[in-house]
Amino acid sequence: MVGNAAQTLHPIAGQGFNLGLRDVVTLAEELANAFHEEQDIGEMPMLQAYLTRREPDRDATVAMTSGLVHGFSNTTAPLILGRNFGLAAMSVCSELKAPLLKRAMGLVER
Ligand SMILES: Cc1cc2nc3c(=O)[nH]c(=O)nc-3n(C[C@H](O)[C@H](O)[C@H](O)COP(=O)(O)OP(=O)(O)OC[C@H]3O[C@@H](n4cnc5c(N)ncnc54)[C@H](O)[C@@H]3O)c2cc1C
Repeated sequence: MVGNAAQTLHPIAGQGFNLGLRDVVTLAEELANAFHEEQDIGEMPMLQAYLTRREPDRDATVAMTSGLVHGFSNTTAPLILGRNFGLAAMSVCSELKAPLLKRAMGLVER
């Protein structure tokens, strides 16, 4: 349910451990909530609440790492041009760079 056993990311950008930590913290919160509400912590609603909370972060992190792998391993000229232009744009415009940086640093909704 957590970490690499739940999702295996490409090691590019070093996100797997951070994502796994966010899984663990969220699961602990959901377990504590269920315990305080005297629910069965092994019941499906608790597990479903955990899975639903983790889905957006997981999907976005997988999309980012896969996007980087595919974008930077492709050698077709338009893509090389596009990614160089994208990197140059990000280096001069902090508004473009911020979303990628925040996700890479794990400063995301959990
Ligand atoms: C080259 C590289 C660089 C990385 N750099 C970063 C980084 O900078 N930042 C970052 O956040 N992430 C990084 N990662 C990803 C990160 O290492 C993993 O996402 C993280 O270690 C996953 O932790 P885990 O506990 O879920 O799984 P694992 O670390 O894979 O732990 C699983 C454990 O279970 C054991 N095991 C497996 N099967 C069994 C079994 N049947 N019985 C008993 N034990 C078993 C294994 O031996 C292992 O010890 C990198 C990964 C790689 C490959």
